[in-house]
Amino acid sequence: MKILITGGAGYIGSHTLIELNKAGYDFIVYDNLSNSTDESLKRVEKIINKSIIFEKGDIRDKDALQAVFKKYEIESVIHFAGLKAVGESVAKPLEYYDNNVVGTIRLLEVMKENNCKKIVFSSSATVYGDPATTPIKENFPVGGTTNPYGTSKYMIERILEDVQIGDNEFKIVILRYFNPVGAHESGTIGEDPNGIPNNLMPFISQTAVGKREFLSVFGGDYDTADGTGVRDYIHVVDLADGHVKAINYINAQTQNMEPLIVNLGTGNGYSVIDMVKAFEKASGKKVAYKIVDRRPGDIAKCFADPSFAKEVLGWEANRTIEQMCKDSWNWQSNNPNGYKN
Ligand code: NAD
Ligand code: UDP
Repeated sequence: MKILITGGAGYIGSHTLIELNKAGYDFIVYDNLSNSTDESLKRVEKIINKSIIFEKGDIRDKDALQAVFKKYEIESVIHFAGLKAVGESVAKPLEYYDNNVVGTIRLLEVMKENNCKKIVFSSSATVYGDPATTPIKENFPVGGTTNPYGTSKYMIERILEDVQIGDNEFKIVILRYFNPVGAHESGTIGEDPNGIPNNLMPFISQTAVGKREFLSVFGGDYDTADGTGVRDYIHVVDLADGHVKAINYINAQTQNMEPLIVNLGTGNGYSVIDMVKAFEKASGKKVAYKIVDRRPGDIAKCFADPSFAKEVLGWEANRTIEQMCKDSWNWQSNNPNGYKN
């Protein structure tokens, strides 16, 4: 019995393969490589010393998905596949809704037709919009999203909840990630964004390696200790381990269950300047920055209350920001052009 990993060639998926392998799970990767390359899988193969079954395909392609479900015995799905660039989603809303929402509907149809009813879904803290207070608990209001990417995640959450009501054999875990950063300790896999990075950490590391002149810090006048935005950065390997715990949880359920919604964060908030300083220390490089206007849609503070994840999944993040920066730098400095080396 195998776990189907949609989007498994991507940043979080590739790290999760390693943790699943460690835990003794068998998997196959399904990815259309729209935002990744199979080089990530080749590198994971080296790390785990095992070959990976890879089927190239799109989650919107029902025939291709059906063929994969017929070919392998798939017991559960970890669903990473999706487009994730916030700015691009504003410019291309239909592509985002088609890829993320329609793609998930197609996947759920094929799962149901093949009596595969266990799924772990990659959601995001973005579904909380601008929270009234922090730390953020799972029962905080959701849906006040500010861009099509975030709305697509919110819609998928609602669809999953309805799918479970319609067929209560479905066992669903929705993981709301905070800000994934860092890389595997080997430095051979990591985040490899196309073009100019939107996210803070790849921008910082590309500045440190000399690919970017300076970091634009979006806003210095937020209501935070140093005026810059505060986020809950989580090491991607801790996040990957959260998926193993989610699959363990689903497999342990003998009764029907309502969808389980869990925050995956550390509970610590760090500012943009905190991250710059930590990165400079870890890399020994200067990260030039300029404070510029706020980025539209950004909020002052976002960090998790991760206590439910500990209680229900037995999971907690334990890697520090020093480790996150060290591992990001190890990946970036060994692979200045990402997987294109
Ligand atoms: P990523 O882009 O590195 O990985 C996503 C993978 O899905 C890529 O390999 C891409 O080729 C594949 N893919 C996209 N559309 C597809 C389709 N239609 N069919 C098949 N494959 C497709 O992104 P990531 O950072 O690894 O994120 C994984 C998931 O986690 C995404 O759903 C993302 O929205 C979510 N998430 C990411 C973050 C983050 O900051 N990285 C935060 C919260 C949630
Ligand atoms: N940020 C920044 N400069 C950048 C990218 C991000 O100052 O080039 C800030 C952003 O305003 C936010 C934090 O870094 O306060 C994290 O942003 P990111 O886009 O990585 O994640 P988000 O929390 O917005 O999803």
